[in-house]
Amino acid sequence: MSQSVCILGVTGSIGQSTLKILDNHPEEYSVFAVTAHSRIVELAEICKQYHPKVAVVPSKKVDELRQLLILADLADIEILQDEAGLIAVSEHPQVDVVMAAIVGAAGLMPTLAAVKAGKRVLLANKEALVMSGDLMMQAARDHHAALLPVDSEHNAIFQCLPEGYFQAERNGQPKMGVSRILLTASGGPFLNHTLEQLQSVTPAQACKHPNWSMGQKISVDSATLMNKGLELIEACHLFSISEHFVTVVVHPQSIIHSMVQYVDGSTLAQMGNPDMCTPIAHALAWPKRIQTHVPPLDLFVHSHLNFQEPDTLRFPALKLARQAMQSGGLAPAILNAANEIAVAAFLNNQLGFSQIPQIVEHTLSRLENSAADSIDVILQADRSARKIAQQFVMNKGN
Ligand code: NAD
Ligand code: MG
Repeated sequence: MSQSVCILGVTGSIGQSTLKILDNHPEEYSVFAVTAHSRIVELAEICKQYHPKVAVVPSKKVDELRQLLILADLADIEILQDEAGLIAVSEHPQVDVVMAAIVGAAGLMPTLAAVKAGKRVLLANKEALVMSGDLMMQAARDHHAALLPVDSEHNAIFQCLPEGYFQAERNGQPKMGVSRILLTASGGPFLNHTLEQLQSVTPAQACKHPNWSMGQKISVDSATLMNKGLELIEACHLFSISEHFVTVVVHPQSIIHSMVQYVDGSTLAQMGNPDMCTPIAHALAWPKRIQTHVPPLDLFVHSHLNFQEPDTLRFPALKLARQAMQSGGLAPAILNAANEIAVAAFLNNQLGFSQIPQIVEHTLSRLENSAADSIDVILQADRSARKIAQQFVMNKGN
């Protein structure tokens, strides 16, 4: 029987790649629900092509979508709105698979709803896991949800871990012969910039990633290395491993997507051309493998693979994220919220690139940390952090 898929954030980069894979496997998968925050014309086009049962948009976009659907003779598609609509499709009894591809904290509640409904959840929205960490992982176990990593590095690690690793005791220690995780990072577009050069880079330059084509927020995160910081936290939660067992390795070619080291001296790597369709297809079909359009890796073309240590002097965001993970509690949620505000302000030309980690550090220092023992507490910390970070943007750090 075909699997029914809900795509949260269908108009985004990951959403589009997901559709591309579904196009190749029409017998196996059908689209039940799609959601978008903006680009409603594109959403209506997607509705024309895939004819989902439900579409979710913000309340202020409902009329626009309704008009477009009526014009296309698609008035039978139900339109739901806002966070309640996102949650309703994520936990809908007719949905088997949820692609969590909303960017940022906005994806937390729908992703969590999908996990609590015991779905197969394809996790692209790393911010949701960074914020809710243990709560999300516990919910996945309690509700027998398969929370599968789509982030290319985490998908690579998942592929290199021994079978049954997820069922093993979750105590922060590497187990089953695993000794260390090597999380690879491209280093982003400014890998070789000096501190001085970093001060004057523009949003357009930051959004031009050398290897991957991605949404704006994650592109800026890749440029500051905050993306790797968020991924470090994501890895600790997904694989129940404390941060000192995770080494970040800068590998500018993005051919090795991450590695797992074992106590016998083995290092397993997952390799492939940098295309998100590979990890999406893997998570979608796991434990099966399905065809994608991604060409096989040609090692005669990619004959030079380089590795270096990250420079946290030029890219302090990585250090801040590691410290936040060490502190635990609400620190990762605070870090994430401050970063979201800082990145938005940078993209809006309200802030310099080098001020992004400064805002994050400032916000972390201003808020008291405590246990992240409920979603309400986490959402409150998120709101407080946003306020402080916004203030910093308005005062430009004075
Ligand atoms: P994107 O900006 O291209 O798309 C984001 C999607 O989320 C869009 O459909 C948008 O309409 C929706 N959205 C934005 N704000 C929203 C809100 N407030 N409420 C509801 N929906 C909202 O982003 P992307 O690059 O596709 O990334 C999506 C997620 O996947 C991010 O968390 C990112 O870190 C992660 N990710 C992306 C890539 C990649 O290659 N693009 C790789 C790994 C992980
Ligand atoms: Mg990644």
